[in-house]
Formats: sequence, C-alpha cells, structure tokens
Amino acid sequence: MRVAVIGGGWAGLAAAVELTAAGANTTLFEAGRVFGGRARGVEIDGRWLDNGQHILLGAYRETLALMRQVGADPEQLLARYPLQVVDSSGFRLALPKLPAPLNVAWGLFTARGVGFGEKLRTAQWMQGIKARRFRLEADCTVTEWLDAAGQTAQLRRHLWEPLCLAALNTPAERASAQLFANVLRDSLGSARREDTDLLLPRCDFGRLLAEPAARWLGEHGASLRPGSRVRSLHAGFKAVTIDGEDFAAAIIATAPQHAGRLFPALAADLDYEPIATVYLQCSAETRLPFPLLSLPGPCGQWVVDRGDGLLAFVLSGHGDWEALDDSALTQQLAAELNLGQDLGWHRVIREQRATFSCRPNLPRPPATLGPRLFLAGDHSWAEYPATLEGAVRSGRHAAGLALAAI
Ligand SMILES: Cc1cc2nc3c(=O)[nH]c(=O)nc-3n(C[C@H](O)[C@H](O)[C@H](O)COP(=O)(O)OP(=O)(O)OC[C@H]3O[C@@H](n4cnc5c(N)ncnc54)[C@H](O)[C@@H]3O)c2cc1C
Repeated sequence: MRVAVIGGGWAGLAAAVELTAAGANTTLFEAGRVFGGRARGVEIDGRWLDNGQHILLGAYRETLALMRQVGADPEQLLARYPLQVVDSSGFRLALPKLPAPLNVAWGLFTARGVGFGEKLRTAQWMQGIKARRFRLEADCTVTEWLDAAGQTAQLRRHLWEPLCLAALNTPAERASAQLFANVLRDSLGSARREDTDLLLPRCDFGRLLAEPAARWLGEHGASLRPGSRVRSLHAGFKAVTIDGEDFAAAIIATAPQHAGRLFPALAADLDYEPIATVYLQCSAETRLPFPLLSLPGPCGQWVVDRGDGLLAFVLSGHGDWEALDDSALTQQLAAELNLGQDLGWHRVIREQRATFSCRPNLPRPPATLGPRLFLAGDHSWAEYPATLEGAVRSGRHAAGLALAAI
C-alpha cells in the first residue's frame, strides 16, 4: 500500500514516520533541497544556524516523542530550563522546580516588579479560567480578554502580552483569546511541572529532527524525494494520483499558502504574520543573565543566548521593526541591549509568511479531504496556533486517518 506525503516540514516528517512505523510503503515529497520546512537548518557564512530561532516548551510532548522515535535524544539536543520571564525593566517571574500547580503559584507570588494586589487578582483570574477548563464562552481578542479580566498593569505588559506574541506570533490586539487560553492550558495550567519548561536547542534544526527523521525513514524503507515539488494531484475514490503516480492514500502537509495550489478547496484567504531573526556575534564571553531574555522594546521582543557570544533576537508579528533595513535593525537591537556600536558578524533572516495570523474565530480546515486524501500542517491543528507541536500532532493524526483508509 503506497502512501504519499507531500511536504517534508515537521508535519510531513511526523506523518511519514507514523505511516512507515505502521508498515505503509511511504513516499515523502519535499520541494526544497532539505527537509524541515520552516524549522530547518541553514548554512550561513560557514555557520550552521536555523532559518529562524525557535523555542520549544516541555508541553511539546508529541514532538519530543517523535524525536525519541527517530533516535534524536531531546535530553542531549535541547537545554531544559524552568520557565523564567526576565526583562531589563526589573520584571522577573521565575518558576521553581516545585510540583504543579505550586510552581506557578510560587512564581506568581514571588514575581518582581508586580504589586501584591495585582498578584492576587491574577491568581483569582487564573483559578477562574482553570475552573472553566480554559474554554471561553465566545472567542475575542487577547486584549479584550485581558481588559475584561482587569489585567491592566505590570503582568499584562511584561508577561501576558509578550507570551501571547511569542506563542501565537500575533499581537494581543489581533490574537485569538481562545487559542492563547489553549496554550496556557497545556503549559502554565498543566498538571505536569515539566510542561512549563523552556527547551532551547543546542544544535541547528536540521540535527534536531529533520536529519535524524530522514535517516530513520531511509533505514525503514521509505522513499525520500527532496527537491521534488508536486505539481498535480487528483483525488479519486480508489487512488490519489500525484504527478501521474498512483497512491492508495495521500497527505498534503504543505504550508497553507501552498495547499490551495494542490487542492483548490484549501485555497483560504488567510492573513500571515512575519518573524525576523537577527543573529549577532558578540565577544565569546558575552552572556545573558538567562538564556531567553524579554526585551521591553521599543523594537526588540526576545533574545536568545546561543552560547559562545552568539545572540538571536526574535521579532514577531507585523510592527514598526519591519520598516528598518537589516543594518538599522541590528544597530537598534544592539543598542537596546547596551552592546555598543561596534557590531560583529550579523545576519537578518526575515520570514514574511512565518505563520498564519491567529485571529479570533479563525476557521480551520478539516483533516479529511476525501476518502483517500488527508491534510496535515500547523494550520490544520485547530487546538493550537502555528507551532511545531501543532504540526507534529497534525501529521500523526493525518497518518492515522490514512492508515484507516487503506
Ligand atoms: C522564523 C520562525 C520562527 C518560529 N518560531 C517558532 C517557535 O519558537 N516555536 C514553535 O513551536 N513554532 C515556531 N514557528 C512555527 C513553526 O516553524 C511551524 O509551525 C512549523 O514548522 C510548521 O510545520 P509544517 O510542517 O506544518 O509546515 P512547513 O514547515 O511550512 O512545511 C511544509 C513543507 O512543504 C513543502 N512544500 C510546499 N509545497 C510543496 C509541493 N508542492 N511539493 C512538495 N513539497 C512542498 C515546503 O517546502 C515545506 O518544506 C516559527 C516559524 C518561523 C518561520
């Protein structure tokens, strides 16, 4: 039974591994030269970096399980830290290694730069959300949700809004409160302490998943076709024909803007949000106080310490930073971190369509497109914004549907 997967990002890789592990004869088509999609390793000036800095959470359970399945040890490849949100304004919220939910309660009540009344109000609000199982009566923007909850002071500016932008890649004033609540449910609201941990890659994204997954697939008999852009797809009752080849089933696992070209019913009028990653090499002894630092602006949002003096600034969502050219943007970010005028090696990577914009009530496509045709990809996992975990879950789910159909 031949099954095709179109798109070798994390969703497509997850689907292909699941299919192959179940004994299907899998063919993985990928338009690019390498696998990994939006989370792939890239070589720049002899350095192995990522096409964009990514951050994982302990809550990415299926992603971590997939890594283990293909022989990529998360304990070695990812550095794990209890969550901290620290910025230069004096704000600091750090979760201790206590069992959940004590860790969150302790972190909240010991947060620096926040008044006691605000902490108490926030604790009550979080209890209320938990009691309603993180379900909102009606979706609205995160801004409206925070306003209604009276979250108007320090925690809003230094915690909720930066977390929303980081998790949904959409600013609070446009972002879906329900999707943000889902993210909180599976991280700060989880019964497992480790789900709140930050996981920062110790290697580039190729080594983290794409290369071990491709190796595993090859060793288990899958046919890998990098550099093969699928041009035509016909979904019938008995087979799916892809560029003239018949398959018993197929999974489309491309980004949303490419899925409509293969299957017109998927052509959606989505809005997208950009992400820029600014890599800046400082002197080798440069260290951030915590490997992930929140920057309270005006331009910067987050900066990751990649070790040996290499910093990666992340700018998410549409904003004023887009008007700056690469050199001005790097200067501005270096100034916000007081790094001086003399910049070392630097490179800016701008992904204009990094993720779909997580607006309230955004319709999401179904995973079943026909009797033998299925959909995966971050946009198809309705529980989450565009994330690696959503992509992996969608891929595994679509593989299960395809296996049931053949
Ligand atoms: C800069 C940046 C930073 C991010 N940061 C984070 C983060 O910190 N944490 C997080 O969880 N998520 C983050 N994300 C989101 C995350 O990367 C995506 O949600 C995830 O990678 C999507 O995977 P996917 O497999 O659904 O899609 P993609 O990665 O887009 O994969 C689709 C693949 O399909 C291929 N393709 C397209 N058309 C065809 C065709 N016709 N034939 C064959 N192949 C085709 C493409 O080449 C691509 O490789 C970030 C994204 C970006 C861009």
